[in-house]
Amino acid sequence: MKASAFNAEARERSVRRKTSGSMKRFERAQQSLAGGVSSGLRRAARPYPLYFAHGEGARAVDVDGNEYIDYGLAWGPLIVGHAHAEVTRAMTGQLQRALTFGAQHDLEIEVAEMLTSVIPCADLVCFANSGTEIVQVALRLARAATGRQRFVKFEGHYHGWDDSVLVSYKPSREEIAAANGAPIPVANGQRPHDQVIVAEWNDHAGIEEIFAARGDEISAVICEPLLCNNGCIPPEPGFLELLRELTARHGALLVFDEVITGFRLDLGGAQRHYGVTPDLATYAKAVGGGAPLSVLAGKREFMQLIADGKALHGGTLNGNPLSLAAAKAVLEILTRDDGAVYDEMWRRGERLRFGLEEMLRGVGFEVVTSGAGPVFQVSFMSRPARNYRETLDADKQLYSDFALALLDEGVLVLPDGRWYISAAHTDEQIEATLDAAARVVKFGTDPVTVDRLLLGIIDDKRKAEAQSRSGIGRPNI
Ligand code: PMP
Repeated sequence: MKASAFNAEARERSVRRKTSGSMKRFERAQQSLAGGVSSGLRRAARPYPLYFAHGEGARAVDVDGNEYIDYGLAWGPLIVGHAHAEVTRAMTGQLQRALTFGAQHDLEIEVAEMLTSVIPCADLVCFANSGTEIVQVALRLARAATGRQRFVKFEGHYHGWDDSVLVSYKPSREEIAAANGAPIPVANGQRPHDQVIVAEWNDHAGIEEIFAARGDEISAVICEPLLCNNGCIPPEPGFLELLRELTARHGALLVFDEVITGFRLDLGGAQRHYGVTPDLATYAKAVGGGAPLSVLAGKREFMQLIADGKALHGGTLNGNPLSLAAAKAVLEILTRDDGAVYDEMWRRGERLRFGLEEMLRGVGFEVVTSGAGPVFQVSFMSRPARNYRETLDADKQLYSDFALALLDEGVLVLPDGRWYISAAHTDEQIEATLDAAARVVKFGTDPVTVDRLLLGIIDDKRKAEAQSRSGIGRPNI
C-alpha cells in the first residue's frame, strides 16, 4: 500500500471527530435524497459531504460550528463571496416586490445592457438558469445557423450533464485506448452521441486534420478557453487563434464555454483575457454570484435566430427577477472602478498559487500549478500538462490527502485540485492559508510518515539526509 501522505489517517480521524453533525445528517439524507447529495460530483467529498450553516465573505461555517476559508466557492459562483451585503440587499428587496413574473421587467434590460457593454462577442444576450441548458441553446443555434449537425468538443472539457456533451470528460487510459478516437460516454443511459467529434486540447495539427476531413459537416467548435475542469490548462499561444481561423474558414461557429472563466479571469472573460472573440459564449456560475442564472452572449447575426424565433429558446424561470437582482448587484461590484477588483483577485490568486507551489516543492514534492489568477490548479506531477491525457499522470490520491489535511486545518478546497479566489478573500486569509498549508506539510505529518514520504519523493541528496536522521525523531523538512 502506498504510504499515507500528509498523515491522512490521523487527519481523517480528526475531521470525523469535529464533524459528527455532518455525518449524522448525511446518513439521514440518504434515506430520502438519492445519494444524499443534490449533484453527483459532491459525493466525492472526503470523509463525507459536509453540511453548511452559513457563510460570510470568504468564510464558510459548517453545522458543527467549524470555520473554513473557502476556496471551493460553491464550485465557482461565489465571485464576491458568501452573503455579500449588496447582493443580499438587492435580492431581499426584490423578494418583497415579486419572486417571478414569467413576463418582462426592467432588470432584464439593465442586466442585458451591463453584459453587452463588457463582453466582447455580446451584441445580444439571452438568459437561462444553468450552464447545462445554456450550452444546449448555443449548440442549437450553431446547428440552426449552419444547417449542420456535428460539433467538435475537446477531451477533458466539461459542458454540462446533457447527453449530447457528456462524453470524453474524464476517461481512463484504458477507455481512451479502447475507444480508438470515438466519443466516450460518461453515464449509463446516455443517448447515442454520433454528432460529437472529439479533439485533443492544444493539438494544432489534430484540429486542422479534423477540419480538412470533415469541415463541411461541423456546425461548431466548443471549448473551455482555459480548460478549468481538468487541470486548468491554458491554451497554447496561437491555439485559440487557430480555432477562430478554422471555424471562420469552414463556416462553423466558435463557441467559448465561459461558465467558469466568465467574470472570473476578467470582466470580459477569457475572450478578453486571451484576445480571441468567439461567435457565441456561455456564462453561468459567477455571473449570478450564486443565484441560478446563465447567459448566452453572441454576435447579432447568430443571436438574431433567437430574436426572430427561428431557434426556440424557452424556460419558465428564464430571466427571473430574483436571479437578475443578484446579477445586477454582482456586476455592479465587479465593474466598479473599471474592474479594479480583478487586480486584487489576480494578485491574491498568484500569491497563493506560487506560495503553495514553492512550499510543496521546497520539501521535495513534484508539483505543478497552472491556471490564471483567480482560478488555478495544484497537481502532484512532474511537468505541466498540455492536454487532458497528460493530467492522468497526476497523483490524485496524494492531492486528496493534501485536501483532507487542509480541511482539518480549516481550509476548504475542491477535491479535484482546483482553487477559486473571490473578491472577498483578504491578504490575511491568503497568508493564513499558506500558514495552514505549512502546518500540513511540515508539522501535521507524523515522523514515520514523513520518513516514508521523503524516501519516496526527494532527490538522492535529501534522501540520504533523511535516512541519516531516521531514528532521531522527526526530519527537519
Ligand atoms: N460548462 C462548464 C465549463 C462548467 O464548468 C459547468 C459546470 N461545472 C457547466 C458547463 C454546467 O453548468 P451547470 O452546472 O450550471 O449546469
